[in-house]
Amino acid sequence: EKEEKDWSKKTRTEKITEEHEPEWVNNVEYFINEELCVWCRVSNGEWHLGKIQSTSGDAAWVMLSTAQVVKVSMKEIFPANPDISEGVEDLIQLSYLNEPSVLHNLRVRYSQDLIYSKAGPVLIAVNPFKKVQIYGNNILSAYQKKSLDAPHVYAVADAAYDEIMREEKNQSIIISGESGAGKTETAKYAMQYLEALGGGSFGVENEILKTNCILEAFGNAKTSRNDNSSRFGKLMEIHFSAKGKICGAKLETFSLDQSRVVQLSNGERSYHIFYELCAGASPILKEKLKLKAASEYNYLNQSNCLTIDPIDYAQKFHKLMEAFNIVQIPQDYQERAFALLAAVLWLGNVSFEVIDNENHVEVVADEAVTNVAMLMGCNSQDLMVVLSTCKLQAGRDCIAKRLTLRQATDMRDSLAKTIYASLFDWLVEQINTSLEVGRLRTGRSISILDIYGFESFKTNSFEQFCINYANERLQQHFNRHLFQLEQEEYEGDGIDWTKLGFKDNQECLDLIEKKPICLVPLLDEESNFPKSTDTTFANKLKQHLKANSCFRGERGRGFRVSHYAGEVLYDTNGFLDKNRDPVHVDLIQLLSSCKCQLLNLFSTKMRHKSLNPATFSESMNQSVITKFKGQLFKLMNKLEGTTPHFIRCIKPNSNQLPGIYEENHVLQQLRCCGVLEVVRISKSGYPTRLTHQELAARYGFLLLDTKSSQDPLSTSNAIMKQFNLPPEMYQVGYTKTYLRTGQIGVLEERRRYF
Ligand code: ATP
Ligand code: MG
Repeated sequence: EKEEKDWSKKTRTEKITEEHEPEWVNNVEYFINEELCVWCRVSNGEWHLGKIQSTSGDAAWVMLSTAQVVKVSMKEIFPANPDISEGVEDLIQLSYLNEPSVLHNLRVRYSQDLIYSKAGPVLIAVNPFKKVQIYGNNILSAYQKKSLDAPHVYAVADAAYDEIMREEKNQSIIISGESGAGKTETAKYAMQYLEALGGGSFGVENEILKTNCILEAFGNAKTSRNDNSSRFGKLMEIHFSAKGKICGAKLETFSLDQSRVVQLSNGERSYHIFYELCAGASPILKEKLKLKAASEYNYLNQSNCLTIDPIDYAQKFHKLMEAFNIVQIPQDYQERAFALLAAVLWLGNVSFEVIDNENHVEVVADEAVTNVAMLMGCNSQDLMVVLSTCKLQAGRDCIAKRLTLRQATDMRDSLAKTIYASLFDWLVEQINTSLEVGRLRTGRSISILDIYGFESFKTNSFEQFCINYANERLQQHFNRHLFQLEQEEYEGDGIDWTKLGFKDNQECLDLIEKKPICLVPLLDEESNFPKSTDTTFANKLKQHLKANSCFRGERGRGFRVSHYAGEVLYDTNGFLDKNRDPVHVDLIQLLSSCKCQLLNLFSTKMRHKSLNPATFSESMNQSVITKFKGQLFKLMNKLEGTTPHFIRCIKPNSNQLPGIYEENHVLQQLRCCGVLEVVRISKSGYPTRLTHQELAARYGFLLLDTKSSQDPLSTSNAIMKQFNLPPEMYQVGYTKTYLRTGQIGVLEERRRYF
């Protein structure tokens, strides 16, 4: 049902809306005369290199490299870059910044396994989907010694590290991109680098990478887009001592997808740990937990997808136990955790029998229910009662009411989800206790954020809404930071510069979270209202939000939001239920009656939250979206206090295959995560920057008047004068010369003919 939007088709039909730069429009004649290359979009939507033969009205005749001559609209023709710019490390070095040139540049690099490039201050990482020989100790130490400076995640981590040591200012590495783009892998390489740099006295450093093994087992799953998809967001904050050694770390996670535990789409899997446990547990453990093969469990076999080859589960399971030991989870607790996993699996096999014509049910007393009770440490009769009835207060009396099949199934699934989610949170706590060690409140921390990217499917629900909301906030952070940074560089280098305003996404954020009337409180209000339905909610939105230009009501239960990355159609179906997400008191009570310390702990936490008046309003009773919003605010606050380093991961194809670079797919992502905008800011400024030394090295020998070139700055001035560049096309700063778009081409041309 969750069909992914066919992005490539979309970009093809919607056309490139990129506008031409004025310089190019006036330069077409020059391109014809000099026989310079252009990019033109041919009928199948692909970009081809060619040379303009002649123009006629809004179109041009272009000769392609195949010698074929085609007629193309001028709107679909962009100047190509001179050969010296082929495969540049930083897109800012391109003299002509346009989408085909950017795509071509990344493709050239990708085909040489140069998966990293820069877009000004942003690192772009194109997923290779194969092992590339650019990691490991040798490369790592080359970056450490600064003998390598090509774009790399190591270079980003190195820059962050240098800055904490130099300026004692907290840093963040913000990694984004769509599912399968490589965020988690990139985050691991960043951690690996920091561990190597900051290893030493405290012994925590070995633990940080190991925690990934636990988190991935419990929080990652195979989806249709990624065999190892993280179903939660993660922030790892690594602290450094004054000597630059890792002295502690803190892990924070965001909204684990719980529904996956009980419900799977075809071809997808539940969390890896279940399969690893079924296949990797020792015979003794299997016997203790009454474990069977994964194929025996309804929660796992419902999607017809049990294995991902080639994975050795026994080895994985062994690695996990090792990681458990490293973060010091005691043996008996490890076993309790495994027992709870087995209980969740058996819960899925608990079945119900309809006993009357109102669809009321009884639990079938079979092996499944006995095993669940045994594994949870409760009485199987109590379990059966909780799963098939609910207590109602009638005056002073408490009566038990039978549940219908639907209600009982929901109750059962809710129990499974609650146990799993509590177990996940508990593991995060255990990891944190073990990472705490010498954690100090210093200005020397590096936080690595690996969070789900923007999502747009054919139908989008509450989950997508939360994810896109988070991305909207991160995008705002990205915009503000990058626009500022760019302009600060100009000011810092002493060049004349009129500050540019920038288009931000405030209006969309206002739509979501600006009180009093916006999406989040409307959702909460409607969730608290007993008679509300998804349709009344949709109507309420249409009634109150129509003035916001980012909102569009749809017929029925739908509404559209114009996110920075594109318009998304949401279906309110299930929004209210998912936002309420209550854990039934009967379930909490059952957990507290179990002879399992973990379950008791979980229930105390839930009960504590619901009974403690101080936290009453802000925890248990809080809706899912409000909790999420609070977490997001805290996260943004933390990030605001850091110097950010942005990494945008790009997925080159949707089949997880090496060597395949689908232009439209890449373009869509570049647009989505704002990379092109960053490059475009430079377009309105001075995208080419050469240090005075670099400029002198390339053009200095042509200087006729060598007297005027005593120091680097005046050499640059002299070169610009002699080459006759119009003054509005360049500026000479303290350290660099800044050139407008296309001017490096002019310099190259003059150099050639000099
Ligand atoms: P999700 O949002 O679904 O969690 P993600 O962006 O975290 O996705 P990853 O799990 O990091 O994506 O990457 C998906 C797969 O791509 C990896 O399992 C790995 O096979 C491959 N991959 C990613 N980055 C690299 C890399 N730098 N080198 C080699 N392979 C990579
Ligand atoms: Mg991931």
